[in-house]
Amino acid sequence: MTPPGQLALVPFLSVETMMRLVHHIGLEAMLSDLAAEIEADFARWESFDKVARVASHSDVGVIELMPTSDGETYGFKYVNGHPKNMKEGRQTVTAFGLLADVSNGYPVLLSEMTLLTALRTAATSAMAARWLAPLGARTMAMIGNGAQAEFQALAMKGVAGIGAVRLWDIDRAATDKVVRNLAGTGLDVTACDSAEEAMLGAQIVTTCTADKQNATILTDNMLGAGVHLNAVGGDCPGKTELHRDILNRSSIFVEYAPQTRVEGEIQQLDPDHPVTEFWQVVTGAAEGRISPDQVTLFDSVGFAVEDFSALRYVRRKAQESALYESLDLLADPDDPRDLYGMVMRSTT
Ligand code: NAD
Repeated sequence: MTPPGQLALVPFLSVETMMRLVHHIGLEAMLSDLAAEIEADFARWESFDKVARVASHSDVGVIELMPTSDGETYGFKYVNGHPKNMKEGRQTVTAFGLLADVSNGYPVLLSEMTLLTALRTAATSAMAARWLAPLGARTMAMIGNGAQAEFQALAMKGVAGIGAVRLWDIDRAATDKVVRNLAGTGLDVTACDSAEEAMLGAQIVTTCTADKQNATILTDNMLGAGVHLNAVGGDCPGKTELHRDILNRSSIFVEYAPQTRVEGEIQQLDPDHPVTEFWQVVTGAAEGRISPDQVTLFDSVGFAVEDFSALRYVRRKAQESALYESLDLLADPDDPRDLYGMVMRSTT
């Protein structure tokens, strides 16, 4: 209970504070920590309330709410996806999120999540690649060099052992930005002139483009045996990146099947096409990669549990480092029944 006369302040992570936290922990360490945190929650998948996210679609984008709870802590994220935003000088994806104490419903953290989404998406990609990519994978093709790209590359380096990244984007300025940003990170970075060229010698292929259509970033003939595909950009009804033939010859891994069947690459397939929920690989209930020639596909759309893990991690780190602000978000009068009196006293 909040002591009488004191405000029930809610810890708040602004964009500025999140950036300080990233520098305090170190970006690559944070990506590795997040991958471990998310994996630990995938290992206890059955303790979570799970529901496909609630999406509000328009002609130009989507706004989504992503809730979950483990019975002790509740979390949700607000996130949008507007591919046309980038050309207007705005982010394609922005987000914020909240954690609350299930025992009393009081919020315990409010946080920016535009940065945190990029971090958790990259950590999730790398966690999946660590299980599914062919043994000794060293090179990743990165198709789509926008806001998520550097995070994807660095998570794959720290968590999945990637040493080289081959870049392709229809906009050369995006590729040049990634080349500049990844200089000095220890990654061997090559700018390429086509998706085909980027995929030469790559054991992992990440697609992370933004286009509000059923695009065909990759066709089946571009893909050799044994590759691990990390498809990040197809995450909405009518917004996919891979040709259907690729899906038909891939072993497909998803986060939460009821959501991915609506939003992921597999929206192109029959509703009963076999897929494996990735948590089953983590717990040993299902097999991951079983042969070097197998094409594995992580059909990533982003699931609420990943945001929950990320929020809980930054809450802990913010508390340890005292890197947070306090927000007067919660009306909490000394006499809980006297909400009215609290308002009236405030005028005097
Ligand atoms: P962004 O707009 O910053 O970058 C997208 C890039 O893709 C741009 O540089 C654009 O030029 C490029 N591109 C578009 N069409 C292309 C094509 N045909 N070939 C090559 N490049 C192409 O977007 P972002 O924030 O980097 O997000 C990328 C995608 O990832 C979006 O679709 C977003 O919705 C999705 N996303 C998914 C998750 C998830 O959990 N799965 C999380 C965050 C973002």
